[in-house]
Amino acid sequence: MDRAGIELNGVGYRWPSRPVVVVCIDGGDPAYFEQGVREGIVPNVARFLETGFGAIADGDVPSFTCPNNMSIATGSPQSVHGISGNFYLDRETGEAVVMTGPELLRSRTIMAEFSRHGARVVSITAKDKLRKQLGKDMDLSRGSVNFSAECADQCLPEETGIEDALALTGMPKPPMYSPELSLFVLEAGVKLLEQRRPDILYLSLTDYIQHKYAPGEPEADRYYRNMDDKFGRLHDLGAVVALTADHGMNDKSNADGSPRVIWLQDLLDARFGKGSSTVICPITDRFVAHHGALGGFVRVYCHGSLEPGDVMRLAVGLSGIEAVYDRATAVRRFDLPLDREGDVVVIGRTDTCIGAAAADHDLSGLAGHRLRTHGGIAEARVPFILNYPLRPEYAARAAAGPLESHQIFDFAINGVDAG
Ligand SMILES: [Zn+2]
Repeated sequence: MDRAGIELNGVGYRWPSRPVVVVCIDGGDPAYFEQGVREGIVPNVARFLETGFGAIADGDVPSFTCPNNMSIATGSPQSVHGISGNFYLDRETGEAVVMTGPELLRSRTIMAEFSRHGARVVSITAKDKLRKQLGKDMDLSRGSVNFSAECADQCLPEETGIEDALALTGMPKPPMYSPELSLFVLEAGVKLLEQRRPDILYLSLTDYIQHKYAPGEPEADRYYRNMDDKFGRLHDLGAVVALTADHGMNDKSNADGSPRVIWLQDLLDARFGKGSSTVICPITDRFVAHHGALGGFVRVYCHGSLEPGDVMRLAVGLSGIEAVYDRATAVRRFDLPLDREGDVVVIGRTDTCIGAAAADHDLSGLAGHRLRTHGGIAEARVPFILNYPLRPEYAARAAAGPLESHQIFDFAINGVDAG
């Protein structure tokens, strides 16, 4: 087949000669693969690294789920696609808005664009919150599919392109907080690859395990062993397999196991008065049980006479802070959409997270687990692994660096030598 490819956000993608699968391992910190390869837990990934390509790439900051999924899926930075958090404050209404609506996404995804040019594409996510943006403007008329494991028992064919996702996988509907939610996504990808031979697949998982278990804990090992088995099956079916992550994960706890948190809203209220600022934690979503809406990156909005400089001076002096930026600097440094940025950005150190007011965070879901979370610069290092070697032009680009996770579709579609 020799068809013209597509162009999206300034990148040309050729028509794939064999299926291309990109897996976004939610919370897939490089440390898990490093440990897994060392311990022989991920033999297929070890083989990809030996005969294909492997590197650590830069993800986007804030290192959260929605922004990085959209960067990967659109092949563009946040300034282009507009999704810079799971959650943001609408300056006009003063309301905190969840950032999952397709109307907020300022680009189509690579899958959607290919589907509109006649390709068969598959997009499957663990959490339903990503589904609508990933499928924005997708053409489902030629066997393309867009659904979530979370809602696998209620797929409307006209909305998802599939009749019965449970029958497809032969698995029961997985619980929301479970490794099976991700394994369901991968199994559905394997089955659709067998049955429909799509051109492009995007499989996006959940970070339930990584929030809870460090590399080397038995639950993490089991999860990685099971994922690796699916990666091997995708490879055996003849696909180009590309593995990356939306963000990494770090332990942000004190020696006694309690979370190491800066309650920034409480500190600002005590200094400048209640109502003078709003701290937004853009990690917030409906899945807060395993992180209590605590991450390494927050946005502060100033009200009344409070100046960004006042907030910055207070934040800089706190122990556990890695960086404090005003709006313009944050936008420049992290390539963010200006209209959705706060007045001040505060980023925690590797071992510290930042919350709003202590009273607004429910930490009961941690249930004795150490807090492992993400959002800062330290968690913006992600794996970038391909099961085939790079062609010389792409090998040179990778060597010149920096490699960015939103280039993974470019590399997987255009850059590998798959024979
Ligand atoms: Zn995530």
